[in-house]
Amino acid sequence: MILKRLKIEHFRNVRAAEMTFKEGINFLKGENAQGKTNALEAIYFFSRGKSFRGSEEEMVQFGEKGFFCEIEFFDGKRAQTLSHRFYEGKRVRKKNGAPVSRISEMMGVFRAVLFSPDHLQMVKGSPDIRRQFLNIGIAQLHPAYLKLYSQYNKMLDNRNYLLKCAQKGLYFDEGELSVWSAQMAETAASLHFMRLEFLEQIEHHAKVIMAEVSEQREALSLSYESENKGKTEEELKSIYLAQLSQNLKKEYAAGCTLYGVHRDDFKIEINGVDARHFASQGQQRSVVLALKLAEGEACAAAFGEYPVFLFDDVLSELDEKRRAYVFKGAEKRQFVVTTCEKDILEGSHVIEVKEGKYVSID
Ligand code: ATP
Ligand code: MG
Repeated sequence: MILKRLKIEHFRNVRAAEMTFKEGINFLKGENAQGKTNALEAIYFFSRGKSFRGSEEEMVQFGEKGFFCEIEFFDGKRAQTLSHRFYEGKRVRKKNGAPVSRISEMMGVFRAVLFSPDHLQMVKGSPDIRRQFLNIGIAQLHPAYLKLYSQYNKMLDNRNYLLKCAQKGLYFDEGELSVWSAQMAETAASLHFMRLEFLEQIEHHAKVIMAEVSEQREALSLSYESENKGKTEEELKSIYLAQLSQNLKKEYAAGCTLYGVHRDDFKIEINGVDARHFASQGQQRSVVLALKLAEGEACAAAFGEYPVFLFDDVLSELDEKRRAYVFKGAEKRQFVVTTCEKDILEGSHVIEVKEGKYVSID
Protein backbone atom coordinates (compact mmCIF):
# COMPACT_ATOMS: atom_id res chain seq x y z
CA MET A 1 0.00 0.00 0.00
CA ILE A 2 1.50 3.31 -1.05
CA LEU A 3 0.17 6.61 0.24
CA LYS A 4 0.42 9.19 -2.53
CA ARG A 5 -1.19 12.35 -1.24
CA LEU A 6 -2.80 13.93 1.80
CA LYS A 7 -5.02 16.98 1.68
CA ILE A 8 -6.26 18.65 4.86
CA GLU A 9 -8.34 21.73 5.57
CA HIS A 10 -9.14 23.39 8.88
CA PHE A 11 -7.59 20.39 10.55
CA ARG A 12 -6.01 21.29 13.92
CA ASN A 13 -3.31 23.93 13.22
CA VAL A 14 -3.55 23.44 9.45
CA ARG A 15 -5.65 25.93 7.47
CA ALA A 16 -5.14 24.21 4.12
CA ALA A 17 -2.35 21.89 3.02
CA GLU A 18 -1.62 19.27 0.45
CA MET A 19 1.44 17.04 0.47
CA THR A 20 2.68 14.14 -1.57
CA PHE A 21 4.57 11.07 -0.39
CA LYS A 22 7.04 8.78 -2.07
CA GLU A 23 7.76 5.07 -1.82
CA GLY A 24 10.24 4.18 0.92
CA ILE A 25 10.89 6.60 3.77
CA ASN A 26 9.16 9.96 4.14
CA PHE A 27 10.25 12.19 6.99
CA LEU A 28 8.01 14.89 8.42
CA LYS A 29 10.64 17.14 9.90
CA GLY A 30 10.09 20.16 12.08
CA GLU A 31 10.31 21.72 15.49
CA ASN A 32 7.84 20.97 18.26
CA ALA A 33 4.18 21.93 17.83
CA GLN A 34 4.36 22.57 14.09
CA GLY A 35 1.93 19.95 12.78
CA LYS A 36 3.92 16.73 12.28
CA THR A 37 1.70 14.49 14.40
CA ASN A 38 -1.38 16.27 13.04
CA ALA A 39 -0.53 15.02 9.53
CA LEU A 40 -0.06 11.45 10.82
CA GLU A 41 -3.33 11.73 12.70
CA ALA A 42 -5.17 12.68 9.51
CA ILE A 43 -3.62 9.76 7.59
CA TYR A 44 -4.27 7.23 10.33
CA PHE A 45 -7.86 8.42 10.64
CA PHE A 46 -8.64 6.55 7.42
CA SER A 47 -7.16 3.32 8.67
CA ARG A 48 -9.02 3.18 11.94
CA GLY A 49 -12.05 5.32 11.26
CA LYS A 50 -11.17 7.53 14.17
CA SER A 51 -8.32 9.55 15.57
CA PHE A 52 -5.74 7.98 17.84
CA ARG A 53 -5.82 11.02 20.09
CA GLY A 54 -9.15 12.77 20.24
CA SER A 55 -12.65 13.34 18.96
CA GLU A 56 -13.57 14.79 15.59
CA GLU A 57 -14.69 18.00 17.34
CA GLU A 58 -11.16 18.40 18.73
CA MET A 59 -9.67 18.03 15.26
CA VAL A 60 -11.55 21.06 13.93
CA GLN A 61 -9.25 24.06 13.73
CA PHE A 62 -9.99 26.50 16.54
CA GLY A 63 -12.63 29.02 15.43
CA GLU A 64 -13.85 26.90 12.50
CA LYS A 65 -16.93 24.72 12.11
CA GLY A 66 -15.49 21.66 10.46
CA PHE A 67 -12.51 19.94 8.84
CA PHE A 68 -11.83 18.06 5.66
CA CYS A 69 -9.23 15.41 4.93
CA GLU A 70 -8.54 13.27 1.92
CA ILE A 71 -5.97 10.65 1.03
CA GLU A 72 -5.01 9.17 -2.28
CA PHE A 73 -3.19 5.84 -2.25
CA PHE A 74 -2.29 2.90 -4.40
CA ASP A 75 -3.38 -0.44 -3.03
CA GLY A 76 -1.38 -2.73 -5.27
CA LYS A 77 -4.13 -2.87 -7.86
CA ARG A 78 -5.40 0.64 -8.32
CA ALA A 79 -5.37 4.22 -7.11
CA GLN A 80 -8.08 5.02 -4.58
CA THR A 81 -9.23 8.07 -2.67
CA LEU A 82 -10.97 8.36 0.65
CA SER A 83 -12.28 11.61 2.06
CA HIS A 84 -13.98 12.71 5.21
CA ARG A 85 -15.71 16.01 5.83
CA PHE A 86 -16.90 16.87 9.32
CA TYR A 87 -19.02 20.01 9.50
CA GLU A 88 -21.12 21.17 12.45
CA GLY A 89 -21.36 17.61 13.74
CA LYS A 90 -22.37 16.12 10.38
CA ARG A 91 -20.19 13.86 8.25
CA VAL A 92 -19.78 13.31 4.53
CA ARG A 93 -17.53 10.39 3.62
CA LYS A 94 -16.51 9.49 0.12
CA LYS A 95 -14.74 6.53 -1.40
CA ASN A 96 -13.37 7.17 -4.88
CA GLY A 97 -15.70 10.16 -5.17
CA ALA A 98 -18.88 8.27 -4.26
CA PRO A 99 -20.64 8.98 -0.97
CA VAL A 100 -20.39 6.27 1.66
CA SER A 101 -23.03 6.22 4.37
CA ARG A 102 -21.37 3.98 6.93
CA ILE A 103 -17.89 4.25 8.35
CA SER A 104 -17.68 0.44 8.19
CA GLU A 105 -17.65 0.63 4.38
CA MET A 106 -14.39 2.55 4.61
CA MET A 107 -12.74 0.20 7.06
CA GLY A 108 -10.07 -2.10 5.69
CA VAL A 109 -9.69 -0.03 2.51
CA PHE A 110 -6.58 1.86 3.58
CA ARG A 111 -4.28 -0.12 5.86
CA ALA A 112 -1.69 1.44 8.15
CA VAL A 113 0.24 0.55 11.29
CA LEU A 114 0.85 3.33 13.78
CA PHE A 115 3.67 3.41 16.31
CA SER A 116 3.40 6.32 18.71
CA PRO A 117 5.23 6.98 21.99
CA ASP A 118 2.04 6.01 23.87
CA HIS A 119 2.45 2.49 22.57
CA LEU A 120 5.58 2.05 24.67
CA GLN A 121 3.10 1.50 27.50
CA MET A 122 2.14 -1.76 25.87
CA VAL A 123 4.73 -3.71 27.84
CA LYS A 124 4.22 -2.36 31.35
CA GLY A 125 0.88 -0.58 31.15
CA SER A 126 -2.60 -1.83 31.88
CA PRO A 127 -4.18 -4.75 29.96
CA ASP A 128 -6.51 -2.48 27.97
CA ILE A 129 -3.51 -1.14 26.00
CA ARG A 130 -2.60 -4.69 24.96
CA ARG A 131 -6.23 -5.54 24.23
CA GLN A 132 -6.38 -2.46 22.03
CA PHE A 133 -3.34 -3.70 20.09
CA LEU A 134 -5.19 -6.98 19.46
CA ASN A 135 -8.48 -5.29 18.60
CA ILE A 136 -6.97 -2.83 16.12
CA GLY A 137 -4.70 -5.40 14.50
CA ILE A 138 -7.43 -8.02 14.07
CA ALA A 139 -9.97 -5.48 12.81
CA GLN A 140 -7.54 -4.56 10.07
CA LEU A 141 -7.23 -8.19 8.98
CA HIS A 142 -10.89 -9.05 9.49
CA PRO A 143 -13.23 -6.04 9.40
CA ALA A 144 -16.00 -8.38 10.71
CA TYR A 145 -14.14 -8.54 14.03
CA LEU A 146 -14.97 -4.88 14.70
CA LYS A 147 -18.69 -5.54 14.33
CA LEU A 148 -18.53 -8.58 16.55
CA TYR A 149 -16.54 -6.71 19.15
CA SER A 150 -18.93 -3.79 19.25
CA GLN A 151 -21.88 -6.21 19.55
CA TYR A 152 -20.08 -7.84 22.46
CA ASN A 153 -19.62 -4.48 24.16
CA LYS A 154 -23.30 -3.63 23.75
CA MET A 155 -24.28 -6.97 25.30
CA LEU A 156 -21.81 -6.32 28.07
CA ASP A 157 -23.34 -2.88 28.77
CA ASN A 158 -26.84 -4.37 28.85
CA ARG A 159 -25.79 -7.22 31.08
CA ASN A 160 -23.91 -4.87 33.39
CA TYR A 161 -26.98 -2.63 33.65
CA LEU A 162 -29.05 -5.58 34.91
CA LEU A 163 -26.32 -6.65 37.31
CA LYS A 164 -26.16 -3.10 38.67
CA CYS A 165 -29.92 -3.30 39.32
CA ALA A 166 -29.37 -6.60 41.12
CA GLN A 167 -26.63 -5.05 43.21
CA LYS A 168 -28.89 -2.17 44.24
CA GLY A 169 -31.79 -4.53 45.02
CA LEU A 170 -33.93 -3.12 42.17
CA TYR A 171 -36.20 -5.19 39.96
CA PHE A 172 -34.64 -6.73 36.87
CA ASP A 173 -35.65 -9.41 34.40
CA GLU A 174 -33.69 -12.61 35.07
CA GLY A 175 -34.82 -14.03 31.74
CA GLU A 176 -33.26 -11.07 29.95
CA LEU A 177 -30.04 -11.59 31.88
CA SER A 178 -29.79 -15.21 30.72
CA VAL A 179 -30.42 -14.15 27.11
CA TRP A 180 -27.47 -11.75 27.31
CA SER A 181 -25.35 -14.43 28.98
CA ALA A 182 -26.00 -16.91 26.16
CA GLN A 183 -25.30 -14.34 23.44
CA MET A 184 -22.18 -13.10 25.18
CA ALA A 185 -20.81 -16.63 25.61
CA GLU A 186 -21.18 -17.26 21.91
CA THR A 187 -19.56 -13.98 20.86
CA ALA A 188 -16.82 -14.30 23.49
CA ALA A 189 -15.79 -17.69 22.10
CA SER A 190 -15.48 -16.27 18.55
CA LEU A 191 -13.51 -13.21 19.71
CA HIS A 192 -11.27 -15.39 21.87
CA PHE A 193 -10.43 -17.64 18.92
CA MET A 194 -9.72 -14.76 16.57
CA ARG A 195 -7.43 -13.22 19.16
CA LEU A 196 -5.58 -16.49 19.72
CA GLU A 197 -5.01 -16.90 16.01
CA PHE A 198 -3.82 -13.30 15.59
CA LEU A 199 -1.47 -13.47 18.57
CA GLU A 200 0.09 -16.65 17.20
CA GLN A 201 0.78 -14.87 13.92
CA ILE A 202 2.22 -11.86 15.70
CA GLU A 203 4.41 -14.06 17.88
CA HIS A 204 5.71 -15.93 14.86
CA HIS A 205 6.93 -12.70 13.19
CA ALA A 206 7.88 -10.78 16.35
CA LYS A 207 10.13 -13.60 17.58
CA VAL A 208 12.26 -13.36 14.44
CA ILE A 209 12.37 -9.55 14.57
CA MET A 210 13.27 -9.45 18.26
CA ALA A 211 16.02 -12.04 17.80
CA GLU A 212 17.55 -10.03 14.94
CA VAL A 213 17.23 -6.68 16.70
CA SER A 214 18.90 -8.06 19.84
CA GLU A 215 21.52 -10.02 17.89
CA GLN A 216 20.02 -13.31 19.05
CA ARG A 217 20.25 -12.37 22.73
CA GLU A 218 16.54 -11.98 23.40
CA ALA A 219 13.90 -14.63 22.81
CA LEU A 220 10.39 -13.23 22.78
CA SER A 221 7.25 -15.18 23.51
CA LEU A 222 3.64 -14.07 23.65
CA SER A 223 0.78 -15.98 25.25
CA TYR A 224 -2.89 -15.20 25.44
CA GLU A 225 -4.04 -14.85 29.03
CA SER A 226 -7.58 -15.83 29.75
CA GLU A 227 -9.30 -17.62 32.58
CA ASN A 228 -10.64 -19.94 29.94
CA LYS A 229 -8.90 -22.40 27.73
CA GLY A 230 -10.70 -24.60 25.25
CA LYS A 231 -9.67 -26.81 22.40
CA THR A 232 -12.52 -25.86 20.14
CA GLU A 233 -14.78 -22.85 19.80
CA GLU A 234 -17.78 -24.99 20.85
CA GLU A 235 -15.99 -26.04 24.02
CA LEU A 236 -15.11 -22.47 24.78
CA LYS A 237 -18.72 -21.37 24.28
CA SER A 238 -19.96 -23.78 26.91
CA ILE A 239 -17.19 -22.78 29.32
CA TYR A 240 -18.14 -19.10 28.98
CA LEU A 241 -21.82 -19.93 29.33
CA ALA A 242 -21.20 -21.95 32.46
CA GLN A 243 -19.24 -19.08 33.98
CA LEU A 244 -21.89 -16.53 33.14
CA SER A 245 -24.69 -18.65 34.56
CA GLN A 246 -23.11 -20.28 37.58
CA ASN A 247 -21.60 -17.28 39.33
CA LEU A 248 -24.58 -14.98 39.47
CA LYS A 249 -24.41 -14.35 43.23
CA LYS A 250 -20.85 -13.13 42.85
CA GLU A 251 -21.82 -10.95 39.87
CA TYR A 252 -24.89 -9.51 41.66
CA ALA A 253 -22.59 -8.46 44.49
CA ALA A 254 -20.04 -6.94 42.11
CA GLY A 255 -22.70 -5.26 39.93
CA CYS A 256 -20.79 -6.12 36.74
CA THR A 257 -19.78 -8.98 34.47
CA LEU A 258 -16.78 -10.77 35.96
CA TYR A 259 -16.04 -13.20 33.12
CA GLY A 260 -15.35 -12.78 29.44
CA VAL A 261 -12.92 -11.57 26.82
CA HIS A 262 -13.17 -7.95 28.01
CA ARG A 263 -10.88 -9.02 30.86
CA ASP A 264 -8.32 -10.96 28.81
CA ASP A 265 -4.74 -9.93 28.25
CA PHE A 266 -1.57 -11.31 26.76
CA LYS A 267 1.71 -12.02 28.43
CA ILE A 268 5.01 -10.88 26.99
CA GLU A 269 8.10 -12.81 28.02
CA ILE A 270 11.74 -12.18 27.17
CA ASN A 271 14.01 -15.17 27.74
CA GLY A 272 11.25 -16.73 29.82
CA VAL A 273 10.88 -13.74 32.16
CA ASP A 274 7.70 -11.62 32.39
CA ALA A 275 8.42 -8.37 30.53
CA ARG A 276 5.67 -6.56 32.47
CA HIS A 277 7.87 -6.61 35.55
CA PHE A 278 11.41 -7.01 34.32
CA ALA A 279 11.90 -5.42 30.88
CA SER A 280 14.43 -2.60 30.70
CA GLN A 281 13.52 0.56 28.78
CA GLY A 282 15.49 -0.55 25.76
CA GLN A 283 13.80 -3.93 25.84
CA GLN A 284 10.35 -2.33 26.07
CA ARG A 285 11.15 -0.31 22.97
CA SER A 286 12.41 -3.36 21.12
CA VAL A 287 9.34 -5.38 22.04
CA VAL A 288 6.91 -2.71 20.86
CA LEU A 289 8.91 -2.19 17.69
CA ALA A 290 8.85 -5.96 17.07
CA LEU A 291 5.09 -6.08 17.68
CA LYS A 292 4.44 -3.20 15.30
CA LEU A 293 6.64 -4.58 12.54
CA ALA A 294 5.02 -7.99 13.12
CA GLU A 295 1.60 -6.39 12.72
CA GLY A 296 2.80 -5.17 9.32
CA GLU A 297 4.05 -8.66 8.42
CA ALA A 298 0.72 -10.25 9.39
CA CYS A 299 -1.08 -7.69 7.27
CA ALA A 300 1.28 -8.31 4.34
CA ALA A 301 0.74 -12.08 4.66
CA ALA A 302 -3.03 -11.59 4.54
CA PHE A 303 -3.23 -9.08 1.69
CA GLY A 304 -0.04 -9.59 -0.26
CA GLU A 305 1.20 -6.06 0.43
CA TYR A 306 2.49 -4.09 3.37
CA PRO A 307 0.43 -1.48 5.18
CA VAL A 308 1.85 2.04 5.43
CA PHE A 309 3.96 2.40 8.58
CA LEU A 310 3.31 5.62 10.49
CA PHE A 311 6.00 6.22 13.10
CA ASP A 312 5.43 9.17 15.40
CA ASP A 313 8.45 10.40 17.32
CA VAL A 314 9.83 6.96 18.00
CA LEU A 315 12.88 7.19 15.84
CA SER A 316 14.89 9.42 18.16
CA GLU A 317 14.53 6.82 20.90
CA LEU A 318 15.98 4.02 18.83
CA ASP A 319 19.70 3.39 18.65
CA GLU A 320 21.55 3.18 15.33
CA LYS A 321 21.30 -0.59 15.02
CA ARG A 322 17.58 -0.73 15.63
CA ARG A 323 16.99 2.23 13.35
CA ALA A 324 18.89 0.48 10.59
CA TYR A 325 16.83 -2.64 11.22
CA VAL A 326 13.52 -0.78 10.94
CA PHE A 327 14.40 0.62 7.56
CA LYS A 328 16.13 -2.51 6.28
CA GLY A 329 13.20 -3.41 4.09
CA ALA A 330 12.24 0.16 3.25
CA GLU A 331 12.38 -0.52 -0.46
CA LYS A 332 9.42 -2.88 -0.05
CA ARG A 333 7.58 -0.80 2.53
CA GLN A 334 6.52 2.80 2.93
CA PHE A 335 7.12 4.81 6.08
CA VAL A 336 5.93 8.20 7.19
CA VAL A 337 8.10 9.18 10.12
CA THR A 338 7.98 12.31 12.24
CA THR A 339 11.21 13.63 13.63
CA CYS A 340 12.62 16.77 15.17
CA GLU A 341 16.12 15.60 14.46
CA LYS A 342 18.49 16.81 11.84
CA ASP A 343 19.96 13.38 11.19
CA ILE A 344 17.64 12.22 8.51
CA LEU A 345 18.55 9.22 6.40
CA GLU A 346 20.20 10.20 3.17
CA GLY A 347 18.18 9.66 0.04
CA SER A 348 14.84 9.77 1.81
CA HIS A 349 11.99 12.11 1.06
CA VAL A 350 11.75 15.00 3.51
CA ILE A 351 8.78 17.26 4.16
CA GLU A 352 9.52 20.28 6.25
CA VAL A 353 6.73 21.18 8.65
CA LYS A 354 6.35 24.70 9.96
CA GLU A 355 3.25 26.33 11.46
CA GLY A 356 0.86 23.96 9.74
CA LYS A 357 2.55 24.25 6.34
CA TYR A 358 4.27 21.38 4.57
CA VAL A 359 7.05 21.77 2.02
CA SER A 360 8.88 18.95 0.22
CA ILE A 361 12.62 19.57 0.29
CA ASP A 362 14.11 16.61 -1.54
P1 ATP B 1 5.93 17.66 18.60
O1 ATP B 1 7.28 17.59 17.98
O2 ATP B 1 5.96 18.46 19.85
O3 ATP B 1 5.26 16.35 18.76
P2 ATP B 1 4.14 18.25 16.37
O4 ATP B 1 4.73 18.96 15.20
O5 ATP B 1 3.90 16.81 16.25
O6 ATP B 1 5.04 18.58 17.63
P3 ATP B 1 1.29 18.58 16.55
O7 ATP B 1 0.87 17.61 17.59
O8 ATP B 1 1.12 18.18 15.15
O9 ATP B 1 2.80 18.99 16.79
O10 ATP B 1 0.50 19.93 16.88
C1 ATP B 1 0.82 21.18 16.27
C2 ATP B 1 0.00 22.28 16.89
O11 ATP B 1 -1.38 22.09 16.61
C3 ATP B 1 0.11 22.42 18.39
O12 ATP B 1 0.58 23.71 18.70
C4 ATP B 1 -1.31 22.29 18.88
O13 ATP B 1 -1.62 23.13 19.95
C5 ATP B 1 -2.10 22.70 17.65
N1 ATP B 1 -3.49 22.24 17.65
C6 ATP B 1 -3.99 21.07 18.12
N2 ATP B 1 -5.32 21.00 17.92
C7 ATP B 1 -5.68 22.17 17.34
C8 ATP B 1 -6.92 22.70 16.90
N3 ATP B 1 -8.06 22.01 17.02
N4 ATP B 1 -6.91 23.94 16.31
C9 ATP B 1 -5.76 24.63 16.18
N5 ATP B 1 -4.56 24.19 16.58
C10 ATP B 1 -4.51 22.97 17.17
MG1 MG C 1 4.22 15.23 17.56
